[in-house]
Amino acid sequence: MMSTPVDIEVEPPRLKPAAQRPPVALGVQEALARTRFFPYWLDNPAEPPTEPKLSTDVEADLLIVGGGFTGLWAAVQAKEQMPHLNVVVIEAGQVAHGASGRAGGIISTSVMHGLPNAVRVFPNDIEQLEEFGQRNLDGFEETLARYGIDADIEWNGEMTVAVDPDHIEHLRGDYELHKRYGHDVVLLGREATREQLDSPLFAGALWSRNRSGIVHPAKLAWGLKRAALSLGVKIYEHTPLIEVADEGASVHVKTPHGSVRAPRVLFGSGTAKVGIPDINRRVLQVRDHVLATEPLTDEQLARIGWKNRQGIYDTRTQLNYFRLTKNNNIIFGGLVSYHFDGDPNPPQDEKAETYYRLAQAFYRTFPQLGDVRFSHAWGGPIDYCSRGSVFAKRYLNGKAVFVAGYTGFGVAASRFGAYMGLNILFDRKSPERALDIASLSPTYIPPEPVRWLAAKVTFHAFDGADAEGGWKRAWIKGIKAMGFPM
Ligand SMILES: Cc1cc2nc3c(=O)[nH]c(=O)nc-3n(C[C@H](O)[C@H](O)[C@H](O)COP(=O)(O)OP(=O)(O)OC[C@H]3O[C@@H](n4cnc5c(N)ncnc54)[C@H](O)[C@@H]3O)c2cc1C
Repeated sequence: MMSTPVDIEVEPPRLKPAAQRPPVALGVQEALARTRFFPYWLDNPAEPPTEPKLSTDVEADLLIVGGGFTGLWAAVQAKEQMPHLNVVVIEAGQVAHGASGRAGGIISTSVMHGLPNAVRVFPNDIEQLEEFGQRNLDGFEETLARYGIDADIEWNGEMTVAVDPDHIEHLRGDYELHKRYGHDVVLLGREATREQLDSPLFAGALWSRNRSGIVHPAKLAWGLKRAALSLGVKIYEHTPLIEVADEGASVHVKTPHGSVRAPRVLFGSGTAKVGIPDINRRVLQVRDHVLATEPLTDEQLARIGWKNRQGIYDTRTQLNYFRLTKNNNIIFGGLVSYHFDGDPNPPQDEKAETYYRLAQAFYRTFPQLGDVRFSHAWGGPIDYCSRGSVFAKRYLNGKAVFVAGYTGFGVAASRFGAYMGLNILFDRKSPERALDIASLSPTYIPPEPVRWLAAKVTFHAFDGADAEGGWKRAWIKGIKAMGFPM
């Protein structure tokens, strides 16, 4: 057993440039004064034309509700596997405008919200779950190549940085776990970490170098939309489900100006209310928030290094995650809130004050970038559930399946979620169906107002649980002990 972190210098240390004057630091108010409160990813002329609304009554072999990653992957896979099917997608707003076009865009190999979570939830099935993760990424890459989807992917790995020397012990445990399952990981000490990405906060890091990285999430969703259309899927945008009825042989879904009747329905609708109360007892919406900086100049980028451009998470209880875009904007996320009954459009998302604490966290992490402003800021829904990873559950006497619960890790796992959901819906034999991942569902989360109260206390405890300890740390431990991932 090692007693200190392994400093693996993947390259000889760079000579530090002669001491430069620190940039003049902007206050958070000034840094957010010209910010657009809209996802950076969606503010892009590459967005494909919006598909028309549904304005008549139609029939389908498979109806998919929701045009995010889950719904789009389900549409593409269903058509590839069963080309004769008439597949219809209805999307309440625009494709990718839910969580999918708001994500940080860090791609993980795991379908289980990471290996440590897999060990926590399904300790007996780790090997198979790891294999699903590998196969899922193979299929992910093959599909993108097949349809020529250019989503700015960079396979540079993901790195967890310890922001407290005490957290290194935790990283060492994760390092050994990843090694056991054959991952290409290195554990870095303070200097080696800062060679990768320079922050005075970083005390060490675990860098998983293979089969993970970063993607432009909206371009990915738009590419999947084009692929689905090319396969003959009919997509209706601005077409929300407003009522669902089980008619025995089929399901009848009403929308504002039409309806769809189908013998099979896949719900890829995240935390929205779609007329099946059991769903919202198992997933709840947590709002996460993200900032995008203006593109960094070469000189600004040189101040922090980051030549290997990994996707990064830190080890705080209230964690931050960050990555670069193709144009060298930094995407910096991680400030969660809860709104009573899962309000999908909280007005706070469009107020600069909501992002002050996130901006402060950015400047604490990168004081060298005190002169950098934020071009975009946005919030998005996280579909939180007790197992912290995707589940697929049957409803409406087996004619429907609901797929969600990624708890903030669905960019790649949504492909697997859709695959598992289709296998369950069409009752096909498949290896994952023999495991608990397909047959068990997450536990109930208490209803309102207990839910709101517990979320408020938990998020209050997040701020300071690491630094202050006391009741805050005890509360977080208690919630974890009840089986909820933190
Ligand atoms: C801020 C943020 C950062 C994230 N960062 C990462 C990350 O770095 N890496 C990672 O792996 N994951 C990340 N995630 C998680 C990831 O984005 C999600 O797991 C994934 O996008 C879920 O896809 P989905 O299709 O299930 O849900 P969504 O993309 O939310 O799609 C659901 C769709 O259903 C539609 N809908 C809802 N109700 C109805 C209705 N009644 N009728 C019709 N349509 C309806 C919605 O409009 C929406 O478009 C992040 C999420 C957020 C919010």
